[in-house]
Amino acid sequence: WAPVAAVHVEKVSFDTHALSAGRPLEGAEYQQGTLAGYEVREYLLAKWGRACAYCGKQDVPLNIDHIHPRSRGGSDRVSNLTLACIPCNQTKNATPVQEFLKDKPALLAEILKQAKAPLRDAAAVNTTRWALWQALQATGLPVHTASGGRTKWNRSRTGAPKSHTLDALHVGHLESVTAWPSTVLVAKATGRGTYTRTTPDRYGFPRLVRPRSKLHHGFQTGDLVRANIPAGKKAGIHAGRVLVRSSGSFDITTRHGRITGINHRHVRHLQRADGYGYTTRKEADRHDRPVWARSGPGGPPAPGSSPA
Ligand SMILES: [Zn+2]
Repeated sequence: WAPVAAVHVEKVSFDTHALSAGRPLEGAEYQQGTLAGYEVREYLLAKWGRACAYCGKQDVPLNIDHIHPRSRGGSDRVSNLTLACIPCNQTKNATPVQEFLKDKPALLAEILKQAKAPLRDAAAVNTTRWALWQALQATGLPVHTASGGRTKWNRSRTGAPKSHTLDALHVGHLESVTAWPSTVLVAKATGRGTYTRTTPDRYGFPRLVRPRSKLHHGFQTGDLVRANIPAGKKAGIHAGRVLVRSSGSFDITTRHGRITGINHRHVRHLQRADGYGYTTRKEADRHDRPVWARSGPGGPPAPGSSPA
């Protein structure tokens, strides 16, 4: 249903090669939406803990701030850059950092020390993604890697709306986006049910003995099934995850809701439970309309006509 031919994964949040060993960035490079600028931003977010270096505020717009102001000879190297909220950035302006923080010597020392921290320390936040990448390599599929900075840079160029699906679409090398799927497959980890075979009372003593087997009438809770009910109030075809009971009266959770009390005789397997729940979601519903990166002669293709 969803053959996977290759994997594109955000292996790192920023690409350390783009920041090559303290090479000074031209002012325009990180201010005008270049790839290097996006890599620098992601690097600074990791290095400075996504907060204003001067007041510690989080979840506010953060500007790139020159610790030693450029107007006083401060360089454009990443080691002279930090993040500051807009009020701090504007108040500091061209003031020497020693003067700006003259009442906070401890903070000044901390900022100057953190500024000199080598790149590899900030890169440590990327280790989980390395483990993920290694696991993906083990699948034998071609695995292409990119940085989160590149994902954001791609997004800034296509102007696509914010959604997890479209974030995924923007990972890696991308020339343009012509269309995206109108429906996406959502795989959600649901687990394989409980391992306990008793239900405890409120004091923690085993009270109810649960059935030894999770299998009832050939079905297990979590299996993907389709029920064809010939008559009655629930007549029709219902597909989804099943909840089984030893009585043979099953419930099915479909896209539209839960249908209870379905006789097991009407139920057929689509897929045995593998620990994941599969549903589909309309992608286009959540946006007014796609924004086209590049519309050639004749205009862009209709949304959803082909996967990007
Ligand atoms: Zn601040």
